[in-house]
Amino acid sequence: MDLSTVATRAKDIATKVLATSASKNDVEARFSTEAVTAWGEAGLLGLLVPKDKGGAGLGPRAVCDTIATFAEVDPSAAMVFLMHSAGTAVLAASKSTGAAAALKEIAAGKHLTTLAFSEAGSRSHFWAPVSKATKTPGGVRLDAKKSWVTSANHAQSFMVSTLSADGKGPTDSTIYMVRSGTNGLMKAGAWNALGMRANDSGPMALEAVQVLDADRVSDEGAGFKVMLEVVLPLFNAGQTAISLGICRGAVAATVGHLKSARFEHLGVSLGEALPTLRARLAQMQIDTDGLGARLGDVLGHLEQPGDLTMLRVLESKCAAGDTAMKVTSDAMQACGGAAFSKHVGIERLFRDAHACAVMAPTSDVLREFIGKALLGIPLF
Ligand SMILES: Cc1cc2nc3c(=O)[nH]c(=O)nc-3n(C[C@H](O)[C@H](O)[C@H](O)COP(=O)(O)OP(=O)(O)OC[C@H]3O[C@@H](n4cnc5c(N)ncnc54)[C@H](O)[C@@H]3O)c2cc1C
Repeated sequence: MDLSTVATRAKDIATKVLATSASKNDVEARFSTEAVTAWGEAGLLGLLVPKDKGGAGLGPRAVCDTIATFAEVDPSAAMVFLMHSAGTAVLAASKSTGAAAALKEIAAGKHLTTLAFSEAGSRSHFWAPVSKATKTPGGVRLDAKKSWVTSANHAQSFMVSTLSADGKGPTDSTIYMVRSGTNGLMKAGAWNALGMRANDSGPMALEAVQVLDADRVSDEGAGFKVMLEVVLPLFNAGQTAISLGICRGAVAATVGHLKSARFEHLGVSLGEALPTLRARLAQMQIDTDGLGARLGDVLGHLEQPGDLTMLRVLESKCAAGDTAMKVTSDAMQACGGAAFSKHVGIERLFRDAHACAVMAPTSDVLREFIGKALLGIPLF
């Protein structure tokens, strides 16, 4: 599959499956199983799976273009796709036999995966799990409280981070694959949130979960390295793509409203009547295209890494979160009271946009990292 085929298939699913149900799924906080089925049938779940395992063997650009297309109409679904892609990247970087088996299922479109990193104890500091593995014959036992797990009730596997059994420091972690249905892996609460309501990002508990060595998907003690080198670049670029899609959706909805809503006593549309609204819309477009250029820049860095790559990775998600909140806030203002109603389609994007900045690494943490990096201060 080439990039243009990926784009055509993503657009088709966005139009026929996501756009038609996003609003209802948001109201009902309903996870779209239809979306996952469609991604599987179109080969999109396997974008990052190597060709020798039956996948498309593509990279971050294919994933981010797809995510932006989905996020324009349904950010919740885009988030599910991003978490699946991040989990798939962990598996693709692994040498374990468990990972190889899961990758084949993903390539066949029958396996959705996700990350279970964040913990109740260390909150947004996902790089420092407080749970710790205990060695057992042939594997480990895991006990952990995972605070947010996208696709909690729908994924076939979870990439679970814990401190290594022999770990000494706060980042001496290991990542394990835990399959759904494993004894001791439990849903630990419902998902009823302000935004991203349709992605089932509920808490999960692991109690005496047995994991075999074959399902250890990072080297022992190398979880932190995988988080930084494999997950972070893709996740931040993917989050940038979600924000970009949200901004594009907000611009489109605003254009639609400014053209269709009318001052009947003046005989003109809102957009024809008010230069202030045209100026606000113009700024939204400028901010959105700026974010598109930033995504292109960070993808270029991921394809040809250089000295500034990690800085751009950190900057992109931070800037994207700010831009998504600003552009959707502008859309709310431009469309006035109508934007508070669900029919204009902006208030959902506005709520979803606010999740981008608090998803770890949060915008605050990213600013802290960038500032430290510029001053030569160690990040951890
Ligand atoms: C919709 C959604 C889906 C999610 N899905 C997943 C998932 O699939 N897997 C997963 O592992 N996690 C997931 N998360 C969790 C997410 O990545 C964060 O861990 C979580 O949002 C952090 O929330 P918190 O209340 O624990 O933040 P806290 O850590 O309590 O932070 C509170 C505030 O303090 C700020 N802050 C924290 N540390 C610093 C610092 N060092 N410097 C400056 N400011 C700081 C933060 O920016 C924030 O504003 C999801 C979250 C959301 C909202």
